[in-house]
Amino acid sequence: MREDICTIPINELFEPKKGCPICRMVDMLEGRLAEYITGAAMMEPDVRIETNRLGFCERHFAQIHDVGSRLSIALILESHLKEVEERAFAEEAAPKRKLFGSHGGGEEEHGTCFICENLERNRDHLVEILLNLWTKEEEFRRLFGEQEYFCLPHAKLLIRAAAARLPKKTAAPFCEEVRRLSLSYLQTVESDVTHFCRMFDYRNKDGDWGNSKDAIERAIAYLTGRLYTPAANGEEKA
Ligand SMILES: [Zn+2]
Ligand SMILES: [Zn+2]
Repeated sequence: MREDICTIPINELFEPKKGCPICRMVDMLEGRLAEYITGAAMMEPDVRIETNRLGFCERHFAQIHDVGSRLSIALILESHLKEVEERAFAEEAAPKRKLFGSHGGGEEEHGTCFICENLERNRDHLVEILLNLWTKEEEFRRLFGEQEYFCLPHAKLLIRAAAARLPKKTAAPFCEEVRRLSLSYLQTVESDVTHFCRMFDYRNKDGDWGNSKDAIERAIAYLTGRLYTPAANGEEKA
């Protein structure tokens, strides 16, 4: 796979100081991988071997379906289906690799995904660069501390990565910073959701919604690490 596909300057992700910068990183990686795989890379033999073997999860099938041309998706599917047929139904030839009736499950039961796999690997690599920056550059540490928040899954990811890769003395203040940013946003969202609920009390009929109108979407985004786009009719749907 081409190296530059997943090169993202960390500072650029942190500059907006809005939302979770790791969510932004994952979105960018996902978008680039989906475009890459439905673009010229689709015809590269080594990439095709991988997509034939791994396939895609439901989310990423939907994504490549959105960004790719119908012909490119069909070509990816054509050779992937062939491989699925060989692996899942060739019971006589390779009983250990068959999909049906195998005991113990393993990866095949949960499915595999070309984008998920590359996404994770590149995300972990970028997180490693991030930890390095935080350790060495005071300016980046300041920028890091100015983030609006880290969503729950990415706060956990950062804390896990720091524990695994940084010396204890450095990991402690890093984790404390991640915790502070994640917890304070959780408390904000929590009180906005409560405010939202209260607005449905008849006594608050003419009250001020404050920041609570998109509290549901922000809470879901915080909990899942996925931007959640509000439905067009938003809060009307009581
Ligand atoms: Zn996030
Ligand atoms: Zn996937």
